[in-house]
Amino acid sequence: MKKNLDTICLHGGWKPTKGEPQQLPIYQSTTFKYETSEQMAKLFDLEESGYFYTRLANPTVDAVAKKINALEGGVGCVLTSSGQAANFYAVFNICESGDHFITSSNIYGGTYNLFGVTMKKLGIECTFIDPDWDDERIEREFRPNTKCFFGETISNPGGYVFDIERFAQMAHRHGVPLIVDNTFATPINCRPFEWGADIVTHSTTKYMDGHATQVGGAVVDSGNFDWETGGKFPGLTTPDESYHGLTYTKAFGKGAYTTKLVAQLMRDLGSMASPQNAFLLNLGLETLHLRMARHCENAQKVAEWLEKNPRVSWVNYAGLPSNKYYPLAQKYMPNGTCGVIAFGLKGTREDAIRFMDNLDFISIVTHVADARTCVLHPASHTHRQLSDDQLREAGVAPDLVRLSVGIENVDDIIADLQQAMGMKE
Ligand code: PLP
Repeated sequence: MKKNLDTICLHGGWKPTKGEPQQLPIYQSTTFKYETSEQMAKLFDLEESGYFYTRLANPTVDAVAKKINALEGGVGCVLTSSGQAANFYAVFNICESGDHFITSSNIYGGTYNLFGVTMKKLGIECTFIDPDWDDERIEREFRPNTKCFFGETISNPGGYVFDIERFAQMAHRHGVPLIVDNTFATPINCRPFEWGADIVTHSTTKYMDGHATQVGGAVVDSGNFDWETGGKFPGLTTPDESYHGLTYTKAFGKGAYTTKLVAQLMRDLGSMASPQNAFLLNLGLETLHLRMARHCENAQKVAEWLEKNPRVSWVNYAGLPSNKYYPLAQKYMPNGTCGVIAFGLKGTREDAIRFMDNLDFISIVTHVADARTCVLHPASHTHRQLSDDQLREAGVAPDLVRLSVGIENVDDIIADLQQAMGMKE
């Protein structure tokens, strides 16, 4: 039976039968028993699917991956130990030394560093483009060895909205897939595959978990990208010597990308999600649809309040009609974007720090996209490894305060902000 997203949040991935637990069990086991050596051999040859070692597959982790896959509308999903691992695997699964890819520069600082510094050390080069450039200027950056295009639906922390359809068409004109990090929007507010994206990634640490209990990631494949035409992806379309000469596209069809990701990358690099973390993530997913609606409702009211506030120099929230990205937000996320607002406080950097220190229940944490309202000054915290130029390139103003609006009573959130700014309630 085809189900709506809210129902999938509760029932996706785990369907207990007679006498089985209603709640997804935690299979806290490294390994799984077989009765004959032949049964085990078939699993190693990828001839049969089944569980043998938790680095490669585990029933709890698989159930949660299936739920996220259903929410995004994909053909396969792999959970990873973090969002960083998800973005690394998503790109590294189709790029090797000597290859190149293109990314929006408006992305999370950790991803910026991963792509621009660490992957460069592996011989993979990345070009950062400003998504506001016109098509012609961006298309000049494609090279014969370009293997993918990357962007965030709503960028962290700048709040820029990525024009998924435009960039999917552009990537496809050059024979490469579009990878979209959908962490902030979540599939409740945006399903990038419906706009042409080929691969979706998540830091499940954020809204999907929502309670700050686990660090995790996910990679979802739409199954729509044609890896064979053009011959750009030999890792998927030619025999893998490390897997008895098996060719992923021939053996697994639409499952080629995720099978390679597990059989090769997870096998060799091992950044899998733990069963315990998958269980905690699943609890968060059960209420994702309710929480996202409340996050958006609260953030809209807070953004409108900030916009009218004389202490505030600017507000970036795509739900505000005055926002540059409002039309894109209306197109891709008509029911709301997310709870994260970026704004600048008038005054010096010290004034921003004083404001944060004065907050009562709103907490200063590195985290974002949590049920509890929290705040951060990226230039002094998450993005402190970036130079001023890199900060600006990543769309982060030095005075930017990132406010992640939670699901508390919105009047209390506004009252806390007001008193921390030294204004009378
Ligand atoms: N992608 C986005 C949009 C993020 O905001 C983050 C973390 O903040 C990541 C990826 C990295 O995720 P994790 O912290 O789970 O490794």
